Amino acid sequence: MSKRIAVYPGSFDPIHNGHLDIIQRCRPLFDEVVVAVLHNEAKKALFTVEERIESIREMVDADVRVESFSGLLVDFMDQVGARAVVRGLRAVSDFEYELQMALMNRKLNPRVETVFMMPKEDYIYLSSRLVKEVFSFGGNLEGLVPDSVIERLGRRLPPRGPAA
Ligand code: ADP
Repeated sequence: MSKRIAVYPGSFDPIHNGHLDIIQRCRPLFDEVVVAVLHNEAKKALFTVEERIESIREMVDADVRVESFSGLLVDFMDQVGARAVVRGLRAVSDFEYELQMALMNRKLNPRVETVFMMPKEDYIYLSSRLVKEVFSFGGNLEGLVPDSVIERLGRRLPPRGPAA
């Protein structure tokens, strides 16, 4: 039987505990999980793709593959032999976009299935955008992102004081 391989795609700029929760939850469901960091020239990121990959690798088990991709997700899935896409669903607001993406990916390759997973309630409001914003104003992110990510943020984003 062929291996059941899943791809978990995203920007991960930076990785946070909501992402890690989804990776842990989907790991037992598949023979292999590939975390796929999107290389998107059009989207300005805080961390380079290489930095994001390094940061994710520090946090996941050695049997989770971490790679970058650009272009169509279905093409990347073909390359790695995956049939399932894993996506995290936080709130109803995520649903519309995720439904569109899932149906488009299915249209592009009818063998591709998207699996939606809910994170632990503690992380339901968490996003990379909010992590960066809260950090830059000196907010406490304990329990929401790994310590190594806090250190990386500190090296990249000087804290701003409150607006005068
Ligand atoms: P995007 O795909 O918009 O660039 P991310 O890279 O942050 O966003 O997200 C990658 C995947 O992780 C998406 O499926 C997203 O819904 C999911 N995700 C993001 N934040 C959370 C969270 N707090 N809990 C669960 N899943 C999340």
